Amino acid sequence: MSTDRDPKKDQVRLAKAREVLLKRQAELEEMLKILAAEETSDGQVQDLGDQALSSSMESLRQSLQNTEREEYNMILRALDAVKDGSYGICIDCELEISEKRLKYYPNAVRCLACQEAAENG
Ligand SMILES: [Zn+2]
Repeated sequence: MSTDRDPKKDQVRLAKAREVLLKRQAELEEMLKILAAEETSDGQVQDLGDQALSSSMESLRQSLQNTEREEYNMILRALDAVKDGSYGICIDCELEISEKRLKYYPNAVRCLACQEAAENG
């Protein structure tokens, strides 16, 4: 499509994306640290009500931790892509992912059309 890609503009775009990704990475690291700390703070004597509450809190914490970890891994992958210059290129159709999409989903690896296709099986 765009045969006249401006490498200078690409550099700016990649640098900006890297900045956003690193910031998000730091946030996630912080969250994962907090979640991991909560994991080890258990082990006090609890009555039954507390146990029920704490087990639902525990499953909530775990699903949150999984989500955060998943996003963290995606950020790492995106940072790798920034490094090798493939960032912002759809892994399926190999076209550029729109800037607007990357702004909202800096770790997107697919363009909108391919993402929807992937999600719908
Ligand atoms: Zn695509």
